[in-house]
Amino acid sequence: MAGIYIHIPFCRQACHYCDFHFSTNLTKQSQITNAICDELRLRSDYVNEQIETIYFGGGTPSVLHSFELAQILSTINDLFEVNPSSEVTLEANPEDLNLSNLEQIRKNGVNRLSIGFQTFSDQKLRWMNRVHSSDQAMESFRDARRVGFKNISIDLIYALPGNDLTIWSEELERAIALDSEHISIYGLTIEEPTVFGHRKKAGELQEVSEEEAASQYLATVEFLKSRGYDHYEVSNFSKPGFRSNHNSSYWAGEKYLGVGPGAHSFDGTSRQFNVRNNSKYLKAINQGDSFFEIEKLSLNQQMNERILTNLRTSIGIDLDKFQSDFSISLQDLHKNTIDVLASEGLLNTDRKKLCLTPRGFLIADEVALKLFFDE
Ligand code: SF4
Repeated sequence: MAGIYIHIPFCRQACHYCDFHFSTNLTKQSQITNAICDELRLRSDYVNEQIETIYFGGGTPSVLHSFELAQILSTINDLFEVNPSSEVTLEANPEDLNLSNLEQIRKNGVNRLSIGFQTFSDQKLRWMNRVHSSDQAMESFRDARRVGFKNISIDLIYALPGNDLTIWSEELERAIALDSEHISIYGLTIEEPTVFGHRKKAGELQEVSEEEAASQYLATVEFLKSRGYDHYEVSNFSKPGFRSNHNSSYWAGEKYLGVGPGAHSFDGTSRQFNVRNNSKYLKAINQGDSFFEIEKLSLNQQMNERILTNLRTSIGIDLDKFQSDFSISLQDLHKNTIDVLASEGLLNTDRKKLCLTPRGFLIADEVALKLFFDE
Protein backbone atom coordinates (compact mmCIF):
# COMPACT_ATOMS: atom_id res chain seq x y z
CA MET A 1 0.00 0.00 0.00
CA ALA A 2 1.52 3.34 -0.99
CA GLY A 3 0.52 6.78 0.23
CA ILE A 4 1.12 10.46 -0.33
CA TYR A 5 1.56 12.95 2.50
CA ILE A 6 1.16 16.67 1.80
CA HIS A 7 2.54 19.07 4.39
CA ILE A 8 0.65 22.38 4.53
CA PRO A 9 3.04 24.63 6.48
CA PHE A 10 0.67 27.33 7.68
CA CYS A 11 -1.27 28.03 10.87
CA ARG A 12 -3.43 30.96 11.88
CA GLN A 13 -1.51 31.32 15.13
CA ALA A 14 1.14 29.36 16.98
CA CYS A 15 -0.03 27.04 19.72
CA HIS A 16 2.21 27.44 22.75
CA TYR A 17 3.23 23.76 22.81
CA CYS A 18 3.87 23.15 19.11
CA ASP A 19 7.23 22.58 17.45
CA PHE A 20 5.98 21.33 14.08
CA HIS A 21 7.00 23.18 10.95
CA PHE A 22 4.57 25.99 10.11
CA SER A 23 4.42 29.71 9.44
CA THR A 24 1.70 32.12 10.60
CA ASN A 25 2.38 34.29 7.56
CA LEU A 26 -0.23 33.02 5.10
CA THR A 27 0.74 35.35 2.25
CA LYS A 28 2.77 32.63 0.52
CA GLN A 29 -0.06 30.11 0.57
CA SER A 30 -0.74 30.14 -3.15
CA GLN A 31 2.99 30.06 -4.01
CA ILE A 32 3.48 27.06 -1.71
CA THR A 33 0.47 25.34 -3.29
CA ASN A 34 2.04 25.81 -6.73
CA ALA A 35 5.42 24.59 -5.44
CA ILE A 36 3.81 21.51 -3.88
CA CYS A 37 2.28 20.70 -7.28
CA ASP A 38 5.69 21.25 -8.90
CA GLU A 39 7.28 18.91 -6.36
CA LEU A 40 4.62 16.28 -7.10
CA ARG A 41 5.50 16.54 -10.78
CA LEU A 42 9.23 16.33 -10.04
CA ARG A 43 8.84 13.25 -7.88
CA SER A 44 6.07 11.38 -9.64
CA ASP A 45 8.31 8.35 -10.10
CA TYR A 46 9.01 7.99 -6.34
CA VAL A 47 6.11 5.58 -6.02
CA ASN A 48 5.00 3.34 -8.84
CA GLU A 49 2.37 1.43 -6.89
CA GLN A 50 -1.27 2.42 -6.79
CA ILE A 51 -1.91 5.19 -4.26
CA GLU A 52 -4.24 4.00 -1.51
CA THR A 53 -4.05 6.93 0.92
CA ILE A 54 -3.59 10.69 0.69
CA TYR A 55 -3.06 12.70 3.86
CA PHE A 56 -3.02 16.48 4.26
CA GLY A 57 -1.16 17.28 7.47
CA GLY A 58 0.57 20.30 8.87
CA GLY A 59 0.48 22.95 10.04
CA THR A 60 -3.20 23.41 9.38
CA PRO A 61 -4.37 22.07 6.01
CA SER A 62 -7.84 23.52 6.56
CA VAL A 63 -6.39 27.01 5.89
CA LEU A 64 -6.22 26.01 2.22
CA HIS A 65 -8.75 27.64 -0.05
CA SER A 66 -11.04 25.16 -1.75
CA PHE A 67 -9.42 25.81 -5.15
CA GLU A 68 -5.95 25.17 -3.66
CA LEU A 69 -7.06 21.84 -2.22
CA ALA A 70 -8.63 20.98 -5.59
CA GLN A 71 -5.43 22.00 -7.40
CA ILE A 72 -3.28 19.66 -5.29
CA LEU A 73 -5.71 16.75 -5.52
CA SER A 74 -6.16 17.07 -9.25
CA THR A 75 -2.36 17.20 -9.70
CA ILE A 76 -2.07 13.98 -7.68
CA ASN A 77 -4.81 12.35 -9.73
CA ASP A 78 -3.14 13.40 -12.99
CA LEU A 79 0.27 12.08 -11.99
CA PHE A 80 -0.46 8.93 -10.01
CA GLU A 81 -2.70 5.94 -10.28
CA VAL A 82 -5.01 6.65 -7.35
CA ASN A 83 -7.37 3.96 -6.13
CA PRO A 84 -10.88 5.48 -6.49
CA SER A 85 -11.72 4.24 -3.00
CA SER A 86 -8.55 5.61 -1.43
CA GLU A 87 -8.66 7.22 2.01
CA VAL A 88 -8.20 10.99 1.72
CA THR A 89 -7.67 12.70 5.08
CA LEU A 90 -7.53 16.38 5.89
CA GLU A 91 -6.37 17.65 9.28
CA ALA A 92 -8.60 20.56 10.19
CA ASN A 93 -9.00 23.12 12.94
CA PRO A 94 -12.52 23.98 14.08
CA GLU A 95 -12.21 27.72 13.31
CA ASP A 96 -11.83 26.93 9.60
CA LEU A 97 -14.86 24.69 9.32
CA ASN A 98 -18.40 25.70 8.45
CA LEU A 99 -21.14 24.14 6.35
CA SER A 100 -20.13 25.72 3.08
CA ASN A 101 -16.40 24.98 3.18
CA LEU A 102 -17.00 21.47 4.57
CA GLU A 103 -19.25 20.93 1.57
CA GLN A 104 -16.38 22.04 -0.69
CA ILE A 105 -13.82 19.91 1.13
CA ARG A 106 -16.01 16.86 0.62
CA LYS A 107 -16.73 17.68 -3.02
CA ASN A 108 -12.97 17.92 -3.58
CA GLY A 109 -12.67 14.27 -2.58
CA VAL A 110 -11.71 14.36 1.11
CA ASN A 111 -13.48 11.47 2.86
CA ARG A 112 -11.85 11.57 6.30
CA LEU A 113 -11.47 14.53 8.65
CA SER A 114 -9.17 14.81 11.62
CA ILE A 115 -10.36 17.70 13.77
CA GLY A 116 -8.06 19.27 16.37
CA PHE A 117 -10.28 19.54 19.45
CA GLN A 118 -7.41 19.18 21.99
CA THR A 119 -9.66 19.91 25.00
CA PHE A 120 -13.24 20.87 25.81
CA SER A 121 -12.08 23.55 28.25
CA ASP A 122 -12.16 27.11 26.86
CA GLN A 123 -9.79 28.23 29.57
CA LYS A 124 -7.23 25.57 28.59
CA LEU A 125 -7.71 26.32 24.88
CA ARG A 126 -6.87 29.98 25.53
CA TRP A 127 -3.90 28.94 27.69
CA MET A 128 -2.56 26.86 24.81
CA ASN A 129 -3.17 29.76 22.39
CA ARG A 130 -5.62 27.78 20.29
CA VAL A 131 -7.83 29.90 18.01
CA HIS A 132 -11.07 27.99 18.55
CA SER A 133 -13.52 27.59 21.43
CA SER A 134 -15.04 24.36 22.62
CA ASP A 135 -18.45 25.34 21.19
CA GLN A 136 -16.85 26.02 17.83
CA ALA A 137 -15.25 22.57 17.87
CA MET A 138 -18.59 20.91 18.66
CA GLU A 139 -20.31 22.90 15.93
CA SER A 140 -17.63 22.02 13.37
CA PHE A 141 -18.11 18.34 14.20
CA ARG A 142 -21.89 18.60 13.79
CA ASP A 143 -21.46 20.50 10.50
CA ALA A 144 -19.11 17.81 9.23
CA ARG A 145 -21.78 15.22 9.95
CA ARG A 146 -24.45 17.38 8.30
CA VAL A 147 -22.52 17.54 5.03
CA GLY A 148 -22.00 13.77 5.12
CA PHE A 149 -18.60 12.98 6.64
CA LYS A 150 -18.83 9.44 7.99
CA ASN A 151 -15.24 9.06 9.08
CA ILE A 152 -14.13 11.68 11.59
CA SER A 153 -11.27 11.61 14.04
CA ILE A 154 -10.78 14.00 16.93
CA ASP A 155 -7.50 14.86 18.67
CA LEU A 156 -7.31 15.37 22.43
CA ILE A 157 -4.43 16.25 24.74
CA TYR A 158 -4.10 14.61 28.15
CA ALA A 159 -1.71 15.42 31.00
CA LEU A 160 -2.48 19.12 30.81
CA PRO A 161 -1.23 20.96 33.92
CA GLY A 162 -4.12 21.33 36.36
CA ASN A 163 -6.06 18.41 34.86
CA ASP A 164 -6.33 15.43 37.16
CA LEU A 165 -7.85 12.07 36.36
CA THR A 166 -11.34 13.29 37.25
CA ILE A 167 -11.18 16.23 34.87
CA TRP A 168 -9.64 14.07 32.15
CA SER A 169 -12.39 11.47 32.58
CA GLU A 170 -14.97 14.22 32.04
CA GLU A 171 -13.16 15.21 28.85
CA LEU A 172 -13.32 11.63 27.64
CA GLU A 173 -17.05 11.41 28.42
CA ARG A 174 -17.61 14.50 26.28
CA ALA A 175 -15.52 13.03 23.49
CA ILE A 176 -17.46 9.78 23.57
CA ALA A 177 -20.73 11.66 23.34
CA LEU A 178 -19.68 12.89 19.89
CA ASP A 179 -19.53 9.30 18.67
CA SER A 180 -16.57 9.95 16.36
CA GLU A 181 -15.15 6.98 14.46
CA HIS A 182 -11.63 7.66 15.67
CA ILE A 183 -9.92 9.33 18.61
CA SER A 184 -6.24 10.26 18.92
CA ILE A 185 -4.84 11.21 22.32
CA TYR A 186 -1.47 12.81 22.97
CA GLY A 187 0.20 13.62 26.26
CA LEU A 188 1.33 17.24 26.50
CA THR A 189 5.06 17.32 25.93
CA ILE A 190 7.03 20.48 26.46
CA GLU A 191 9.61 21.11 23.75
CA GLU A 192 12.37 23.65 24.27
CA PRO A 193 11.81 26.05 21.37
CA THR A 194 8.16 26.71 22.22
CA VAL A 195 6.42 29.25 24.45
CA PHE A 196 5.73 26.51 26.98
CA GLY A 197 9.39 25.45 26.74
CA HIS A 198 10.46 28.99 27.70
CA ARG A 199 7.90 29.12 30.51
CA LYS A 200 9.12 25.83 31.84
CA LYS A 201 12.71 27.04 31.77
CA ALA A 202 11.66 30.18 33.65
CA GLY A 203 9.94 28.01 36.26
CA GLU A 204 6.51 29.33 35.27
CA LEU A 205 5.08 26.04 34.07
CA GLN A 206 4.80 22.91 36.10
CA GLU A 207 4.20 19.71 34.11
CA VAL A 208 2.00 16.99 35.57
CA SER A 209 3.96 14.18 37.19
CA GLU A 210 4.88 11.09 35.19
CA GLU A 211 2.63 9.04 37.48
CA GLU A 212 -0.34 11.30 36.83
CA ALA A 213 0.26 11.24 33.06
CA ALA A 214 0.56 7.45 33.16
CA SER A 215 -2.64 7.05 35.13
CA GLN A 216 -4.53 9.27 32.66
CA TYR A 217 -3.16 7.29 29.72
CA LEU A 218 -3.97 3.88 31.20
CA ALA A 219 -7.44 5.06 32.24
CA THR A 220 -8.02 6.24 28.65
CA VAL A 221 -7.09 2.85 27.25
CA GLU A 222 -9.50 1.10 29.63
CA PHE A 223 -12.28 3.60 29.11
CA LEU A 224 -12.18 3.77 25.32
CA LYS A 225 -11.91 -0.01 25.02
CA SER A 226 -14.98 -0.35 27.23
CA ARG A 227 -16.82 1.98 24.83
CA GLY A 228 -16.04 -0.08 21.75
CA TYR A 229 -12.90 1.63 20.53
CA ASP A 230 -10.01 -0.56 19.43
CA HIS A 231 -6.66 0.58 20.82
CA TYR A 232 -4.69 -0.09 17.66
CA GLU A 233 -1.69 2.20 18.14
CA VAL A 234 -0.02 3.97 21.08
CA SER A 235 -2.07 7.15 20.63
CA ASN A 236 -4.90 5.94 18.41
CA PHE A 237 -8.30 4.37 18.97
CA SER A 238 -10.92 3.51 16.40
CA LYS A 239 -14.29 1.92 15.98
CA PRO A 240 -14.13 -1.32 13.98
CA GLY A 241 -13.19 -0.62 10.36
CA PHE A 242 -12.04 2.95 11.01
CA ARG A 243 -8.32 2.71 11.64
CA SER A 244 -6.33 5.38 9.85
CA ASN A 245 -5.09 3.51 6.77
CA HIS A 246 -2.53 6.20 6.04
CA ASN A 247 -0.88 6.17 9.45
CA SER A 248 -1.18 2.38 9.65
CA SER A 249 0.91 2.12 6.52
CA TYR A 250 3.67 4.21 8.19
CA TRP A 251 3.69 1.87 11.16
CA ALA A 252 3.77 -1.13 8.84
CA GLY A 253 6.89 0.35 7.17
CA GLU A 254 5.20 0.91 3.78
CA LYS A 255 6.51 3.29 1.17
CA TYR A 256 5.22 6.87 1.08
CA LEU A 257 5.94 10.11 -0.70
CA GLY A 258 5.96 13.24 1.49
CA VAL A 259 5.63 16.57 -0.28
CA GLY A 260 5.92 20.16 0.96
CA PRO A 261 8.30 22.01 3.29
CA GLY A 262 9.41 19.79 6.16
CA ALA A 263 7.80 16.63 4.73
CA HIS A 264 9.56 13.26 4.93
CA SER A 265 9.44 10.39 2.43
CA PHE A 266 10.34 6.73 2.83
CA ASP A 267 11.03 4.18 0.11
CA GLY A 268 11.88 1.15 2.24
CA THR A 269 15.63 1.72 2.40
CA SER A 270 16.07 5.48 2.60
CA ARG A 271 14.43 8.54 4.08
CA GLN A 272 14.16 11.91 2.42
CA PHE A 273 13.79 15.11 4.48
CA ASN A 274 12.52 18.23 2.77
CA VAL A 275 13.86 21.57 3.99
CA ARG A 276 11.86 22.90 6.97
CA ASN A 277 11.65 26.48 5.75
CA ASN A 278 8.95 27.87 3.45
CA SER A 279 11.12 30.48 1.72
CA LYS A 280 14.04 28.11 1.16
CA TYR A 281 11.67 25.45 -0.14
CA LEU A 282 10.02 27.89 -2.58
CA LYS A 283 13.35 29.24 -3.80
CA ALA A 284 14.79 25.76 -4.34
CA ILE A 285 11.73 24.45 -6.16
CA ASN A 286 11.51 27.55 -8.36
CA GLN A 287 15.22 27.57 -9.21
CA GLY A 288 15.50 23.83 -9.72
CA ASP A 289 17.86 23.42 -6.74
CA SER A 290 17.94 20.58 -4.25
CA PHE A 291 15.37 20.95 -1.47
CA PHE A 292 15.96 17.77 0.52
CA GLU A 293 18.48 15.55 2.25
CA ILE A 294 18.58 11.80 1.88
CA GLU A 295 19.56 9.35 4.57
CA LYS A 296 20.37 5.86 3.33
CA LEU A 297 19.44 3.35 6.00
CA SER A 298 21.87 0.57 6.89
CA LEU A 299 20.43 -2.90 7.40
CA ASN A 300 20.50 -2.42 11.17
CA GLN A 301 18.75 0.95 10.85
CA GLN A 302 16.07 -0.66 8.67
CA MET A 303 15.53 -3.36 11.29
CA ASN A 304 15.42 -0.76 14.08
CA GLU A 305 12.85 1.28 12.15
CA ARG A 306 10.75 -1.83 11.71
CA ILE A 307 10.93 -2.59 15.44
CA LEU A 308 10.10 1.00 16.40
CA THR A 309 7.15 1.42 14.05
CA ASN A 310 5.64 -2.09 14.32
CA LEU A 311 5.79 -2.06 18.11
CA ARG A 312 3.65 1.08 18.23
CA THR A 313 0.69 -0.93 16.95
CA SER A 314 -1.50 -3.60 18.48
CA ILE A 315 -0.47 -5.87 15.59
CA GLY A 316 3.10 -5.68 16.86
CA ILE A 317 6.11 -7.26 15.17
CA ASP A 318 5.33 -10.18 12.88
CA LEU A 319 8.33 -12.40 13.67
CA ASP A 320 8.12 -14.54 10.53
CA LYS A 321 7.94 -11.48 8.31
CA PHE A 322 10.86 -9.91 10.15
CA GLN A 323 12.89 -13.05 9.55
CA SER A 324 11.96 -13.34 5.91
CA ASP A 325 12.66 -9.62 5.24
CA PHE A 326 15.98 -9.41 7.12
CA SER A 327 17.13 -13.06 7.39
CA ILE A 328 17.49 -12.58 11.15
CA SER A 329 15.56 -14.20 13.95
CA LEU A 330 14.67 -11.37 16.32
CA GLN A 331 13.34 -13.76 18.96
CA ASP A 332 16.55 -15.80 18.98
CA LEU A 333 18.95 -12.88 18.95
CA HIS A 334 17.12 -10.91 21.64
CA LYS A 335 15.73 -13.82 23.63
CA ASN A 336 16.98 -12.61 27.02
CA THR A 337 15.79 -9.04 26.51
CA ILE A 338 12.39 -10.26 25.31
CA ASP A 339 12.05 -12.52 28.36
CA VAL A 340 12.92 -9.66 30.71
CA LEU A 341 10.47 -7.26 29.02
CA ALA A 342 7.74 -9.91 29.15
CA SER A 343 8.42 -10.62 32.83
CA GLU A 344 8.18 -6.86 33.53
CA GLY A 345 4.70 -6.86 31.99
CA LEU A 346 5.71 -4.63 29.06
CA LEU A 347 5.64 -7.11 26.20
CA ASN A 348 3.33 -9.93 25.14
CA THR A 349 5.04 -12.59 23.16
CA ASP A 350 4.25 -15.83 21.38
CA ARG A 351 6.07 -17.66 18.60
CA LYS A 352 4.45 -15.49 15.93
CA LYS A 353 4.58 -11.94 17.23
CA LEU A 354 5.76 -9.43 19.79
CA CYS A 355 3.43 -6.72 20.96
CA LEU A 356 3.22 -4.23 23.77
CA THR A 357 0.94 -4.43 26.80
CA PRO A 358 -0.94 -1.22 27.78
CA ARG A 359 1.93 -0.43 30.20
CA GLY A 360 4.38 -1.14 27.40
CA PHE A 361 2.54 1.31 25.12
CA LEU A 362 3.21 3.97 27.73
CA ILE A 363 6.96 3.66 27.10
CA ALA A 364 6.86 2.22 23.58
CA ASP A 365 10.01 3.96 22.36
CA GLU A 366 12.02 2.88 25.41
CA VAL A 367 10.97 -0.74 24.93
CA ALA A 368 11.82 -0.57 21.21
CA LEU A 369 15.25 0.85 22.06
CA LYS A 370 16.03 -2.23 24.12
CA LEU A 371 15.41 -4.41 21.05
CA PHE A 372 17.52 -2.28 18.71
CA PHE A 373 20.55 -3.53 16.83
CA ASP A 374 23.77 -1.51 17.15
CA GLU A 375 24.20 0.89 14.23
S1 SF4 B 1 -2.56 24.36 14.76
FE1 SF4 B 1 -1.44 22.41 14.93
S2 SF4 B 1 0.41 22.66 13.71
FE2 SF4 B 1 -0.46 24.71 14.04
S3 SF4 B 1 0.61 25.51 15.81
FE3 SF4 B 1 -1.26 24.54 16.57
S4 SF4 B 1 -0.68 22.41 17.03
FE4 SF4 B 1 0.94 23.28 15.77
